[in-house]
Amino acid sequence: MGVPIRDFIKLIAEGKPLEAVRRIKEVNSLPAVCGRVCPQEHQCELHCVVNGKREPVSIGALERFAADYELAHDSVALISGNTAPISNGATPSRNGSKPSHDLRDSKADGQKVAVVGTGPASLTVAGDLARLGYQVTLFEALHASGGVLMYGIPEFRLPKTIVAAEIDKLKLQGVELRNNIVIGKTITIDQLMNEMGYGAVFVGSGAGSPKFMGIPGENFKGVYSANEFLTRVNLMRANRFPEYDTPMKMGGRMAVIGAGDTAMDVVRTAIRVGAREASVVYRRSDKEMTARIEDYRDAEEEGAVFEWQTNPVRILGNEDGFVYAMECVRMELGEPDESGRRRPTPIPDSLFIMELDMVVMALGTNANPTVGQSTPGLTTNVAGHIVVDPETGATTRRGVFAGGEVTTGSATVILAAGAGKRAAAAIDEYLRIESRSTTVSAVQ
Ligand SMILES: Cc1cc2nc3c(=O)[nH]c(=O)nc-3n(C[C@H](O)[C@H](O)[C@H](O)COP(=O)(O)OP(=O)(O)OC[C@H]3O[C@@H](n4cnc5c(N)ncnc54)[C@H](O)[C@@H]3O)c2cc1C
Repeated sequence: MGVPIRDFIKLIAEGKPLEAVRRIKEVNSLPAVCGRVCPQEHQCELHCVVNGKREPVSIGALERFAADYELAHDSVALISGNTAPISNGATPSRNGSKPSHDLRDSKADGQKVAVVGTGPASLTVAGDLARLGYQVTLFEALHASGGVLMYGIPEFRLPKTIVAAEIDKLKLQGVELRNNIVIGKTITIDQLMNEMGYGAVFVGSGAGSPKFMGIPGENFKGVYSANEFLTRVNLMRANRFPEYDTPMKMGGRMAVIGAGDTAMDVVRTAIRVGAREASVVYRRSDKEMTARIEDYRDAEEEGAVFEWQTNPVRILGNEDGFVYAMECVRMELGEPDESGRRRPTPIPDSLFIMELDMVVMALGTNANPTVGQSTPGLTTNVAGHIVVDPETGATTRRGVFAGGEVTTGSATVILAAGAGKRAAAAIDEYLRIESRSTTVSAVQ
């Protein structure tokens, strides 16, 4: 994404944390979030010049420090919303050349932009466009804003006060938040643009549509997708039923299927809300898992049991429809498959039963289909992702832009925020050209 690492670390070293955070925000609007959850060991810290000679510089922790310092000390900047002038120096236009204008000179004239979703892509678009003077409305399907930052990533990795502070900043910048509205159902993109006066729309509806295994028994009560499980705990406080309305059977034996970052979040959350036994069931070995190594170690330290080279074949439920067990088969690993990881195959006669009260599927997600399916002129690919120009986020429908996981599938916060940054610059350019052509035709 091009965060100016040398510059911001130098500013911190010089005792100027506010200047440091402003420098970061020229390319990344969410440093307090990214400083906590971005996989720096695979990104910037991997390429740190001292890496190999000694431990890499803790770039993520420094980013987090500068961002937290701003949250604690710079109330004036928060209210003015002026901490992050947009630099579009790294933002080529659709034809590959860089836009010639400086975004700070933009004349937004209060034009209206609708933003679908409130994840990191949408929050970035909203912040950048509000700062330029656009009237931005965020439409969110859930009752709470923040996307996966709020409902998915658990509190112990990303405190919700940090996400809430980002949202408060947007409100102070004049951004309107409208929750409990499903774009494509409650209101369509056509209505936003043709009846409600929005000159452009950004779609950042994410990839929240869960994948299941397709094995018998997945409909029993007590089988959840990872997103549903995490949403029930993070947003609905299901662990505090009946104080809160959403029920969930806590305190029993649970297993999460999969060994990615989300699986680690699920198992660690389950342990925290009282699971008696919490297992991670994965068909390959620890060498092939995709979870960050520190999250894996934390999960192990907190008591998670790892059932490597194990694959569920069916889930068993009682006559009331509740899960009571899962039948699994042990796997052996062969040659690498098309993913580059060793291919798992079942070991004959190795079936066994795990007694369980809850099964959570953490197998990845697909793009949310609602906007793509309900919007004429919007092209989606075979995977269901909205097709965009990656440099601008422009979709095949004029005036509609998209970015984040709805265009890529499962990815990271920094990638979603980067897509939002590029789309905000492109939307500004699009609206300025549109308003100029409207003015010219009015004069003629
Ligand atoms: C459990 C979990 C842990 C993760 N941990 C990390 C991590 O540590 N580090 C990292 O970098 N990444 C992590 N990720 C991935 C990261 O959260 C995503 O890449 C990022 O949130 C994607 O951002 P987005 O803006 O595309 O969409 P999202 O954050 O998914 O937000 C989309 C929003 O759009 C809303 N929406 C959907 N459809 C509609 C509609 N029709 N109308 C209105 N609103 C709609 C949704 O309710 C949601 O609020 C994690 C993901 C999960 C699930």
